[in-house]
Amino acid sequence: MTQYVYAFTEGNKDQKELLGGKGANLAEMTNLGLPVPPGFTITTEACRSYLAAGSEPGELRVQVTMALRRLEDDLGRQLGDRHDPLLVSVRSGAMHSMPGMMETVLNVGLNDASVKGLAEESGDERFAWDSYRRLLQMFGKTVLEIDGEIFSKGLDAAKAQQGVDTDVELDVESLKGLVETFKTVIREQSGAEFPQHPREQLDLAIRAVFDSWNTERARLYRRRERIPQDLGTAVNICTMVFGNMGETSGTGVAFTRDPASGHGGVYGDYLVNAQGEDVVAGIRNTLSLADLKDLDPSSYKQLLQVMRRLETHYRDLCDIEFTIERSKLWMLQTRVGKRTAAAAFRIATQLVDENLITMDEALERVNGAQLAQLMFPRFDADADKNQLGRGMAASPGAATGHIVFDSKTAETQAQAGQPVILVRKETNPDDLGGMIAASGVLTSRGGKTSHAAVVARGMGRTCVCGFAELDVNGDARTATVNGTVLNEGDMISIDGSTGEVFAGEVPVVASPVATYLESGLDAAVENIDDDTADLVRSVDRLLSHADSIRRLAVRTNADNAEDASRARHLGAQGIGLCRTEHMFLGDRRVLIERLILASDQAGREEVYEELLPLQRQDFVDLLTEMDGLPVTIRLLDPPLHEFLPDRTELSVKVALDRAAGTADPDEERLLAAVEKLHESNPMLGLRGVRLGLVLPGLFALQVRAITEAAASLRARTQNPRVEIMVPLVGSVMELFLIRDEADQILRTVEEEQGVELGIPIGTMIELPRAALTATRVAEAAEFFSFGTNDLTQTTWGFSRDDVEGGFFATYLDRGVFMVSPFESLDVDGVGRLIQIAAEDGRRTRPDLKLGVCGEHGGDPDSIHFFHRVGIDYVSCSPFRVPIARLEAGRAAV
Ligand code: ADP
Ligand code: MG
Repeated sequence: MTQYVYAFTEGNKDQKELLGGKGANLAEMTNLGLPVPPGFTITTEACRSYLAAGSEPGELRVQVTMALRRLEDDLGRQLGDRHDPLLVSVRSGAMHSMPGMMETVLNVGLNDASVKGLAEESGDERFAWDSYRRLLQMFGKTVLEIDGEIFSKGLDAAKAQQGVDTDVELDVESLKGLVETFKTVIREQSGAEFPQHPREQLDLAIRAVFDSWNTERARLYRRRERIPQDLGTAVNICTMVFGNMGETSGTGVAFTRDPASGHGGVYGDYLVNAQGEDVVAGIRNTLSLADLKDLDPSSYKQLLQVMRRLETHYRDLCDIEFTIERSKLWMLQTRVGKRTAAAAFRIATQLVDENLITMDEALERVNGAQLAQLMFPRFDADADKNQLGRGMAASPGAATGHIVFDSKTAETQAQAGQPVILVRKETNPDDLGGMIAASGVLTSRGGKTSHAAVVARGMGRTCVCGFAELDVNGDARTATVNGTVLNEGDMISIDGSTGEVFAGEVPVVASPVATYLESGLDAAVENIDDDTADLVRSVDRLLSHADSIRRLAVRTNADNAEDASRARHLGAQGIGLCRTEHMFLGDRRVLIERLILASDQAGREEVYEELLPLQRQDFVDLLTEMDGLPVTIRLLDPPLHEFLPDRTELSVKVALDRAAGTADPDEERLLAAVEKLHESNPMLGLRGVRLGLVLPGLFALQVRAITEAAASLRARTQNPRVEIMVPLVGSVMELFLIRDEADQILRTVEEEQGVELGIPIGTMIELPRAALTATRVAEAAEFFSFGTNDLTQTTWGFSRDDVEGGFFATYLDRGVFMVSPFESLDVDGVGRLIQIAAEDGRRTRPDLKLGVCGEHGGDPDSIHFFHRVGIDYVSCSPFRVPIARLEAGRAAV
C-alpha cells in the first residue's frame, strides 16, 4: 500500500518533493524538539493521483482516518467535538514555496455545537465566535469558491453597525450576527448549507487544497519561476493554536536576518490578538519584534532561542511563522527564506565569517540573476527630486513609471510599452499579473512581510510598501499624500532600497556594483557609504572565489573595439564571437551592392580591393584592444539580401520611375539582383559557408584582412591571437574547400611578412548534421564553437523571430517547455547534440577546443550544462560576462 500520509514525527527536511517544503520543515522542527502543534502531511503523490483521476485514491481516506485518530488519541480531544473540540488547519505546501498562491483553511472542525464547546473550554466566548466566523469566511471563499468580497463587505457592515473601526473590537453579539450572515451567504451562493460535520469539512478542505494547485494564478506563478506544472502540492493538517485569544495572544512572521538588506539581527512583524493571515494581509498595521519584547519578554526570549537554533541547523537565513497562544509560543512554519540580491551576497559572506559555511557553499547561496539585479542603475543622489515621503524598503531597485491603480490596467499599459508603477492599498494573490507587468509596486499598507513585499522580493520587482501617508482611492483613481493629489497616469519614482517615493521621473546612475565590475574595487568604494562598500566587497569576494575555482573560461561576443574594451574590464578572457556583418553596413553598403551587381570576377576583385583596407583596419582595432587574448572572428554569415534595399520598396520605386519615364538602369539592375536573391526562408538559404563557396573571393578577402591585421600587429611586437571561424557548416567537405583557399592565403601572407602566425581555423556547429558528423568535421576544424541560437532553431525547426512572440505563450502555458529554448538551453535535445559533437569531435582531435557562443553562453542553467559536458569556454554579451563568471564558478563547486 502506498503511504500517502506521514505524521510530523516521521518526515524530515530533505523530503520536500514528497511532503512539500512546509511539511518537510514542520517535520524537521518537530524532530528538533521545537514547539510545533502536532499534525500530519498528505503527500504530493496523493495530490498528483487525485488530479489525474479527479478523485482521491481509495486508501487516502483510510490513512487520513488513522492519522486523525492517532492525533485525537494523543491530544485526548476529538475533531469538532461539542466539548473541548480539536480544531485543525488544512494547509497547502508544495515543494517550491509559492507565497500566497494556494489555499489554507483554519479552524476546521467548528460548527454550531463545537463553537460553544470552544467558548466554554477557553472561557472566551468572543474568541470562539471570531474563530467560527473566520472558518465560514475562509471555507466559503476557498472551498466553496464564493467571491471573498461578499464576506469582506459583511465584515465591514458588522463593524459599521457596531460603530467600530477594527475587527478586534467586534463584540460577541456582532460576531454571532456575522456568523449568521455568513451562513446565509454560503447557503445563497453555493445552494447548500455550510457542512456541519467536521470530517466532511476536513475532506472538502483537503480537496480544495489539491485543486488550488491548478488555479490560474498558481500556474502563472510557476511559469514565471520555472517550476514544473505537474508536481502537485502536499496538504498539512495541523492542530490549531490560537493567536486570537485576547491580548496575551498574537501571531507573527520573523526572519533570522533582514531579508531585504541582509543585515544581521532578527527582524519581524507581530500582530496582537490575530490569527494566521492577518499579518500577511496587511489588514492592520503590525508591531515589530522589539515591541513583542516589551509585551511578552518570556515568549520573545524563547523565540530568539528558536531562531538561533534554526540558523544553526539550516546554516542559512530562515523565515518563520509563529503564534503565541496565551503567552505560549508555537512554531507554525519555517523555511530557508527568500531574500533580495543584496541580502543574498551579504548573508553568504557573513555566514563564512561566522564560520558556519565554507566559501564554496557561500558561492552556492548566490546566483547570476541576483548579480544581474545588483548591476541595475540607481537613482541619482544629486538630482533634483520632489520627495513625497518614505515607506518601507521592501524590495530594492529604482523604478519609474506611470501610476496605475489596478492590475488589469498595469498589464494592458505595460503591454503597450508603458512603464507603470502599480499603486495599491495592499496587494493580494490576484494582483500577480499586474505585479509582473509593473516596473515597481507601491502600497500604503502592510510591512516587509506583506504579500506585496514577499512576492516582489521573490520576483526581483522593486517594491515600497506601508507608505502610510499615501491615501489610495482606487475607485476614484487618485492617491493623495500630504495634500498632493496623484492621478492615474502621473509619473512617480520609487526607491525600493530606501523606501523613498518621488513625484515625477528621477534620473538614474550606475550602481556601485556595476562600477566595481567595470572599474575595480578601489574605484567603486571610494565615494560610497560603508554599508554599500560592504556589499561591494561581498560581491568581490564571491566573484573572486568563482574565478579561482571555475574551469570554464568566459569570453564575450563583441564586434567592435568599444564593446571589446568594456567586456575586457568586466572580466572577459577573449572574444568568442566577432560578427563581421556590421563591417559591411553603413557607408560600405554601396560596395556590397557593387559586388552583387558585378558581372564578372574582375568586377568583384575591384570591390575586394576597396574593401580590404577597411576590413583590415576593423581587425587591427579589435585585436589591439584584445591584445594577448584569443579573438574568434566569424566569416560573413547572413544572407546577402540583408545588405540590399527592401524588395517591395524598390519594386514600387522602379515601377513609378518607369511610369514617369525616368527609369534608371542601375536601379533596374539592382532590382533584378534583389529578385534573384530573394528567398522564402533566408535563414535556411544562401548564407554562411554556402555564401563563401558560391561567391568566389569573399571569404578570401576576409581571411586576408584578418591575417594582414595580425601580421601588422605582430610587427609592432603585439600579441594578436586571432582564430578564424566558418559559419553554418553542415558537411566536412564545405570546410575542406574553404580551408584550401584560406590556408593558402595564410601561408602567402606569412611568407610576405616573414612571420609565423599559427592562426587556427575552426567552425561553428549550428546544424544538427554538423553535430552528428562531428567525427568528420573535426578533421578539418581546429576548434568547434556551438552557435546555440541557430542550433536551437535548426533542431526544433523554429524560426526564432516568428515563434517567440507567437505561439510560445501557449507552449509555455501548456507545459511543452518551462522556459523558451532560446533563453535556456534545451538540454535534452540541443544539449544532446552538443554532447555528441563534443565527444565525437574530441575522438578525432583530442585537443579540439570547444566553445559556446549565442545567448545561452550567458544563461545560468545552460552554463552549468556546458560545464558538465566539458566545454572550454562560453561567450556572451559584455553585460553578462560577470554573471557567466559567477555561474561558471558555481558550476565547479
Ligand atoms: P501560507 O503558505 O500562505 O503561508 P499557511 O499554511 O502557512 O499558508 O497558513 C496561513 C496562515 O495561517 C499562516 O499565518 C499560518 O501561520 C497560519 N496557520 C496555519 N496553521 C495554523 C495553525 N494550526 N494554528 C494557527 N495558525 C495557523
Ligand atoms: Mg505560511
